[in-house]
Amino acid sequence: MRNTKNGLLERLTDGCVLCAEGHVFELERRGYLQAGAFVPEVVLEFPEAVKQLHREFVRAGSDVVEALTYYAHREKLRSIGKEHLLEPMQRQALALAFEVASELPDSPPLVAGNICNTNVWTDSRSDPEVRAMFDEQIGWAADAGVDFIIGETFAHCGEAEIAVGAIKAAGLPAVITFALHEDPDLRDGVPIDEAARRLEQAGADVVGLNCARGPATMLPVGARIRSAVSCHVALLPVAYRTHADCQAIHGLTDPSCDCIPDNRPFPVALDAFSCNRYEMAVFAGQARALDIRYLGVCCGGAPHHVRAMAEALGRRPPASQYSPDMSKHYSLGDAAAVIESNLGYLDGLRKS
Ligand SMILES: [Zn+2]
Repeated sequence: MRNTKNGLLERLTDGCVLCAEGHVFELERRGYLQAGAFVPEVVLEFPEAVKQLHREFVRAGSDVVEALTYYAHREKLRSIGKEHLLEPMQRQALALAFEVASELPDSPPLVAGNICNTNVWTDSRSDPEVRAMFDEQIGWAADAGVDFIIGETFAHCGEAEIAVGAIKAAGLPAVITFALHEDPDLRDGVPIDEAARRLEQAGADVVGLNCARGPATMLPVGARIRSAVSCHVALLPVAYRTHADCQAIHGLTDPSCDCIPDNRPFPVALDAFSCNRYEMAVFAGQARALDIRYLGVCCGGAPHHVRAMAEALGRRPPASQYSPDMSKHYSLGDAAAVIESNLGYLDGLRKS
């Protein structure tokens, strides 16, 4: 294991850990990955695109490089007829994460392996098949030397419990996050706070939520989880504006646009619901105030969101070199920096 003197748990004891996720959405948006199956073949086909995104997230303040193995599991690869690529894809995703981490020898980020919802878990009868899928992935991640494993986007408590067992059997720290959809309970009927308790008892080091919900509808659930467990809590919302009448991104509709197929913005036309950097910064501050220490972004998250969150936590990551400075704007800037005829020009363009 790397960074044993300053690993995940030590960093959480000292303060916050920021983790950028959402690679699949971002690489789809950039034209390197196909929406639908969302299998990250990009790690084999365009490895430089993956490394560049990792670099951007770390530069913006992510403490973690998460290997892009999300949906690179046996069931997904079988569904697209490419099961033979399972191991090469997994090992390559891990190698790319380590290559980027090694570019920062003075302040190395943590490297995390990843497992996720298998889409085959229905009840305990599925446990052996799901455990075997997790074991093979965790084995490759452990071989590569990851610092910890993220098990994410679980909609069933039962499947997440299998994930914890597999990660702890490998002797690695486990960060487990649920994707909570519109329903306040998980798909197997377990209330979210009860699910968090079960995972803690099973040995998870960090429990919480990722994906599906934006900051506004994730934070209140995070507060419930914080009250339910004594271990660390994770919140990694999507960077989209969910709200009381639509708790998760899947149900959002866009009344200002009539050309979205089936009037269903999820998953590729959510642009109009994007959170700005200030909203993500406020979220980070609110979560930190609740003593929720493992924070990040999921789908829709981009480096400018991560930088704003890092700054809200009192940090100044390398990308802060270019954080906004409106004092030098041609019209909005300080009087000393603005030609007199441009002073207040933009204010005049607003409809009064
Ligand atoms: Zn997501």
